[in-house]
Amino acid sequence: MKSDIRVCSAWRAAHDCPVYTLSETCPECGEPAENSAPAPFDPNDPHGEYRRALKRRHR
Ligand SMILES: [Zn+2]
Repeated sequence: MKSDIRVCSAWRAAHDCPVYTLSETCPECGEPAENSAPAPFDPNDPHGEYRRALKRRHR
């Protein structure tokens, strides 16, 4: 695991740029913060398995 950095889930609507935080909520707007890890590393990513399967096929 690389980081616990989260990003404001509403930053596109509430901020000009992503607001990163280590807490559960955005320090600026109070919206929930979500994990900022890239999708390929998200074990809950519904498309992750598809990508991994695709990669296996190419080997
Ligand atoms: Zn925010």
